[in-house]
Amino acid sequence: MQLQGLNKTFGSNRVLQDITVELPEKATTVIVGPSGSGKSTLLRSLNLLERPESGLYQVADLNIDFSKKISSKQVLDVRKKTGMVFQDYNLFPHKTVLQNVIEGPVQVLKQDKNAATKEAYELLDKVGLKEKADFYPDQLSGGQAQRVAIARSLAMHPEYILLDEPTSALDPELEAEVLKVLADLANEKQSLIIVTHNLFFARQIASKIVFVEDGQIIFDGSSQEFFDQRQGNPRIHDFISSMS
Ligand code: ATP
Ligand code: MG
Repeated sequence: MQLQGLNKTFGSNRVLQDITVELPEKATTVIVGPSGSGKSTLLRSLNLLERPESGLYQVADLNIDFSKKISSKQVLDVRKKTGMVFQDYNLFPHKTVLQNVIEGPVQVLKQDKNAATKEAYELLDKVGLKEKADFYPDQLSGGQAQRVAIARSLAMHPEYILLDEPTSALDPELEAEVLKVLADLANEKQSLIIVTHNLFFARQIASKIVFVEDGQIIFDGSSQEFFDQRQGNPRIHDFISSMS
């Protein structure tokens, strides 16, 4: 996917300024940067949860011009291509784990319920939670809930999965379970875009790092290049030092 000249303001606050970036398919892009720099706004724009005032957005065969009116069909199409996983999971509290996973495929994709259920079990197995299929979200740990949210997202077969600080609400032990699932997906070449403060994880998983500061992209390149800042940008160097 690609963004070109994206601008987003909240009142007089220019939160994203002329963002142009390529977010490659079948790779893992990690977005990092200080708090308030615009990372979530950028990620949410990819799912059309935020509407920049201008800029072009291409994902798969879809082209969005943010300066024009966006139809509800375009919103639906973009959301089918981009699944969002939130920090606080956003599971349906009154549905079981299995029901959470099949909801989208059955209601939105109009999949046959038996087929959706069969796939849901496979996905729950993949995230290590097959035995929790009949549990309710409040019976799960945070790490388990987040893995269900990832399975739910996978069930929609999006081209990209977008994750906004997927582990920042979790204790380190539970965080590790979720990071393992994400590392497996990255190995399988699922396209991922992850906002995280966990630079250790970013270093392990990222094929590409995008560093955002004050609504602008300050760095866009390989993970190796990002972390090797001995002769690089002092702001990135300071950021890495402050986080580790
Ligand atoms: P963090 O690391 O703390 O999650 P972030 O990089 O994700 O930060 P954003 O949430 O994208 O930052 O916010 C960027 C800027 O936009 C901030 O100044 C924030 O106050 C502002 N902002 C975000 N959402 C809104 C909103 N709905 N209304 C007004 N301002 C907003
Ligand atoms: Mg954020």
